[in-house]
Amino acid sequence: MKVLITNIKELVQVRNKGENLVAGNAMKALPTIKNAYLLIDNDRIANYGIMNECSNITYDQIIDVSGKLVLPTWCDSHSHIVYAGNREQEFVDRINGLSYEEIANRGGGILNSAKMLELTDEDELFNQSIKRVKEVIKMGTGILEIKSGYGLSLESELKMLRVIKRIKTAVPIMIKATFLGAHALPFNFKNKRTAYIDHIINDMLPLIHRENLADFIDVFCEKGYFNLEDTARLLIAGKEYGLLPKIHVNQFNAFGGVALAVKHGALSVDHLEELNAADINALKGSKTIPVALPSCSFFLGIPYTPARSLMDAGLPLALATDYNPGSTPSGNMNFVVSTACIKMKMTPEEAINAATINGAYAMGCAQDYGSISIGKKANLIITKNIPSYNYLPYAFGENHIEQVLINGRIFN
Ligand SMILES: [Zn+2]
Repeated sequence: MKVLITNIKELVQVRNKGENLVAGNAMKALPTIKNAYLLIDNDRIANYGIMNECSNITYDQIIDVSGKLVLPTWCDSHSHIVYAGNREQEFVDRINGLSYEEIANRGGGILNSAKMLELTDEDELFNQSIKRVKEVIKMGTGILEIKSGYGLSLESELKMLRVIKRIKTAVPIMIKATFLGAHALPFNFKNKRTAYIDHIINDMLPLIHRENLADFIDVFCEKGYFNLEDTARLLIAGKEYGLLPKIHVNQFNAFGGVALAVKHGALSVDHLEELNAADINALKGSKTIPVALPSCSFFLGIPYTPARSLMDAGLPLALATDYNPGSTPSGNMNFVVSTACIKMKMTPEEAINAATINGAYAMGCAQDYGSISIGKKANLIITKNIPSYNYLPYAFGENHIEQVLINGRIFN
């Protein structure tokens, strides 16, 4: 099955195969082809070029997209999209003056989600979650990482990871699973942090490995949650089961978590709202990519990740949603890109690079996703009639997507 897309006003994020990460100053450039065509062969990009050269091409189906842009689908490398219920009451509590930490101390926050998840059976959890996954695909997400971490018990963590596995087979996009057993300390391990980490390492990890339920391991490395020593133990244990680290770090405090993650070969360090010079130095020359989550900053009213400092230091940056019921009840990558431009002073080029190719890198999938490159998966956004790609972040809050193609097929 060959699909030919013609009269593309601008084909965005065109890269040679093998170009799988953009860092520092290079993020300012977003390669495009104006008045272009693109040929899909089954599920992959087979060719592209300027319309003048679009002749003698055989195809089974043609899509004329005059006036519209085509770009790779968004790559959302950080989400907690599998959860039970919602936490809109805490949203109201926060409006009325309580902080994230105060709500957590009252038994709200992550532990509230854990309680609801425990009471929700696997089918119901799947039904609630798949609905959200389909919604984000329609908003242009073509590869998605999903974390566990609202289980906090062997049974519930396995339930979450099994739901993620079911989602993998229920939608055509690539899903990557991350085990986040160390998201918070459950009630029954109060003041017994070390015992909980022992439980994760000795009881949870072997079963997760046996059922092949996770690709990555994550830890909420933060004051009041898990410290550097806990984090190191978990990352080492995860690696023994082949799970690369992707960790939550520097959301509220900077205390050496970034350097620790780099030392343990983390694929990504996520959040980084609080960042110091030592953190930036630790990232230089490493393969670890920083990931910013601007919708979380927007929702909580906390500082934004200092994107300019990271990029000015020559580092790459990825953008992701952090979709979760507590601090970011939104999986809209279009909003993330807008917010990065508006609040983090990223240019549209930088933000689109961060939300596509660098997001794919942050999931270890850039060889197949994140750019318009021959041989990569044909996961594409076809926009509505818009003047330029700058319009995407500029006219925020509007849906500029007309169609999403996943593996070369229109997703409805
Ligand atoms: Zn998160």
